Amino acid sequence: MRRKLVVGNWKMHGSLAQNAVLLGALKSGATQLSRVDVAVCAPFPYLDQLRQELSASTVKWGAQDVHQLEKGAFTGEVSAPMLADFGCTYVIVGHSERRNIYGESSSLVAEKFAAAQQAGLIPILCVGETLEQRESSATEAVVAEQLDAVIALAGAQALRKAVVAYEPVWAIGTGETASPEQAQAVHAFIRQRVAGHDAEVAQGLVILYGGSVKGANAPELFSMADIDGGLIGGAALIADEFLAICRAGQ
Ligand code: PEP
Repeated sequence: MRRKLVVGNWKMHGSLAQNAVLLGALKSGATQLSRVDVAVCAPFPYLDQLRQELSASTVKWGAQDVHQLEKGAFTGEVSAPMLADFGCTYVIVGHSERRNIYGESSSLVAEKFAAAQQAGLIPILCVGETLEQRESSATEAVVAEQLDAVIALAGAQALRKAVVAYEPVWAIGTGETASPEQAQAVHAFIRQRVAGHDAEVAQGLVILYGGSVKGANAPELFSMADIDGGLIGGAALIADEFLAICRAGQ
């Protein structure tokens, strides 16, 4: 039985003062959670605050993006070794906002994935289709292309130390959640596709669902066979809501 994992993606939200309140609540709430792993991914400037606040707790932390190279003349970018320096366990790669707003291709996302692992971080690889793609029955083809790019570069074995997050773009921040059955179908597809390379890796792979998860819908989503937890946006900014989601993973 895979342990559940719940990861908060704060996106471009927060302040030192707001974070301190939120982290205080998460730290104490997390002490009640023995069967679920919890993490938060914050904007870069707050990673040191996460390190200070969370080091003595069970809550892990990470970043929301990373550059694909270790160092160099890339003004404004942040490398994987720098994230490791700040104690990050995780880094999100290929979030749909990066793919769609900043034009990140699946091959670039694969490079970021590999760079993260090279630095000892656990990449959280986001995959998912737009509404238009779902309506034209392209969901599996889109998800397969996003997943295959990583397998082609890093190998299926690399998924041993990675997390995949299925995030249908039409469900992110919209209040519209994929039904548990819709999400389960894509999660099973992802696991099957990885099993085509390595059955053992597929069996152990943690696959999160993301897209308008709330305390109210988390229990049903998390009860599905191939849903191993959640990547949480909006609800991760509200301590009670985020903790309710975490408790659904218990
Ligand atoms: C996300 O940002 O990855 C996300 C799933 O957002 P939300 O939970 O707000 O839909």
